[in-house]
Amino acid sequence: MSTSERPPKPDTSDKSDKSGPAAARPDAPAAGRASGPPPLPSSVRPLRDAGKISAAHAVGQAGAAPAARGGVGVSGAAAKKVFVPRPAAPRALGGLLQKSAQLSEAVLLEALADQEELRRGGGATTEGTRLGELLVKRHAVTEEQVLQALGLQFDLPVALELKPETVEPDLAQRVPINFAKQHRLLLLRRQPDTGIVEVAIADPTAVHVLDDVRRAVGGDVEPVLIPEGLIVEAINKVYSRDRIDAELHKHEDVAEEAETEEDVDLVDLNDEAPIIRWVNSVIFHAVRMRASDIHLEPHEKDLGVRYRVDNVLEEYKRAPRNFINSITARVKIMAGLNIAEKRLPQDGRIRRKIAGKDIDMRVATVPTGYGERITIRLLDRSAVLLNLSDLGFGEDHLETMTEMINRPHGIILVTGPTGSGKTTTLYAALSQINTPDINILTVEDPVEYQLEGISQIQVNPKIELTFASSIRSFLRHDPDVIMVGEIRDQETAGMAITASLTGHLVLSTIHTNDAASAVTRLIDMGIEPFLVTSSLATVLAQRLVRRLCAACRELYRPTPLELERLAIPVDRFFSGDFKVATYKTKAPPPPPGMLYRRHEGGCATCSKRGYTGRSAIYELLVINDEVRELSLRKTDATTLKRAALRAGMRTLRTDGAGKVMWGITSVEEVMLVTAEDKE
Ligand SMILES: [Zn+2]
Repeated sequence: MSTSERPPKPDTSDKSDKSGPAAARPDAPAAGRASGPPPLPSSVRPLRDAGKISAAHAVGQAGAAPAARGGVGVSGAAAKKVFVPRPAAPRALGGLLQKSAQLSEAVLLEALADQEELRRGGGATTEGTRLGELLVKRHAVTEEQVLQALGLQFDLPVALELKPETVEPDLAQRVPINFAKQHRLLLLRRQPDTGIVEVAIADPTAVHVLDDVRRAVGGDVEPVLIPEGLIVEAINKVYSRDRIDAELHKHEDVAEEAETEEDVDLVDLNDEAPIIRWVNSVIFHAVRMRASDIHLEPHEKDLGVRYRVDNVLEEYKRAPRNFINSITARVKIMAGLNIAEKRLPQDGRIRRKIAGKDIDMRVATVPTGYGERITIRLLDRSAVLLNLSDLGFGEDHLETMTEMINRPHGIILVTGPTGSGKTTTLYAALSQINTPDINILTVEDPVEYQLEGISQIQVNPKIELTFASSIRSFLRHDPDVIMVGEIRDQETAGMAITASLTGHLVLSTIHTNDAASAVTRLIDMGIEPFLVTSSLATVLAQRLVRRLCAACRELYRPTPLELERLAIPVDRFFSGDFKVATYKTKAPPPPPGMLYRRHEGGCATCSKRGYTGRSAIYELLVINDEVRELSLRKTDATTLKRAALRAGMRTLRTDGAGKVMWGITSVEEVMLVTAEDKE
């Protein structure tokens, strides 16, 4: 914690108790825990060191507090040796926020009324009914302002930052992780001069548990108020540091054992253990971060390691220049590549069990001016073998897709830009129909995942093994289903159509922005419209959107403008009458009239991203009579799309709006990936 902010010195003029109705109201019993514990008579002070409470504190004079508090704080000034908790505050949270955060009386009274209602309805539990939380939810004040006010109210120092790396792990672990999580507290460090232990707490009313903490550390403690999110995140980091180390070493042992044979001829690398550990940790962390790619990029002065996570590249770490050769050699050995060959690009594979997951890695090297650049694509086999029902389809779409892939013939096209998850959809479809009595052949560029029971071949232009020539030879092997990686030329399109017309189900991808354009693209490639309309069964356009982190997503009331951008009818939305398709969700949808959005700064669960993993949005075009008729007349894509919309097709954006309504993703994400999606 580098910056520690102390609440400003309380203004003695306003300790003069509640003078107006605004100040009086928050003190009413309804405010309960949210505005601090009710004042206790000094005889029932629950704290062990209550005797140390100064006279000024005992009568709750805020004005006297700073002097008594002295150097309390994470900055560690020495003036104050003992934490003196105060059971009561002279002013209530609501009143303080009115002063410090310009909270209006009207909003405060509304929040208090809400609180009363929630508590009446909620029985004994006060979860989520604190005044501060309610005000933050209403965006009336920020979490920081509440914390500052609580600091004043309870006379505790406040810090708005917590750096996990400054926490002493051995000290922190004096209390069990469950206790720390339950009470939202974390032991930070022992002040060198006083031996007092600084403890981060999120809830000022949790001071009673500090007795337990005192016993655990065998000395005095000093609490500091820190936002709950930061504490939880730091708890996860600090307590898992040891676990990660242990896990990493466990993995290394396995890896090194398994690799003893291939390491034998590594005579030129005398001290390879640190390099092996370094490379393993880079891969291990990539898996933990759910990265899809690792980039090892040699620069003039060092080697940069970047991860691609949810399609965003981020730097992970750097290694000094003099290690580049050993690191490169290590990765190449793991991937079964020729380490002596440094001038030509090479491709290889690594397969490992990492953190319980079966990970396939495709390794590609390419020479650059500063050395070999290495890209490792991570394929989590457990994640890819999904069913269609796991991909994020609306129930209606899933039903149609299931029906389509069970047809004996016809072409199913999946379209979208690179990185829109097309291959995953095709694999999911294949694994769903993959039974021993069905003969499935695929031709791919490249083969991304080995699917059990399916013959997969990789195109190889050098030996003239193309998509088209593969389909031609496939047809002699009596397949039921053919998957073609991509249709990008007339010859491939023609072969796919031939296969479909001769009684095969053909799955493939094509590169267009929307579903209707895929139809016109085939015709533009030079395929006769009647051949297209008689073979094409359906086109699925798709995009990936990030999934809101269910642990930290925020409920909010969207503006009419936001709703209009998603084509959600404003009135019906707010009256709760607007209905969308049904989607499978892990977390409950928002209540009527509300949506979820990303929490700025995220939380520990989502590594501060606000999103965890991805889902897809779809536009499913079924070739009906009208679309068929229009295509035969070589109608443009926009007219085709309009016809499909009349027949009930949802655009990508509308499907996205449905997922927003279900709290799966955010308005922001849908707008981002459907920028070109015009009606
Ligand atoms: Zn989160």
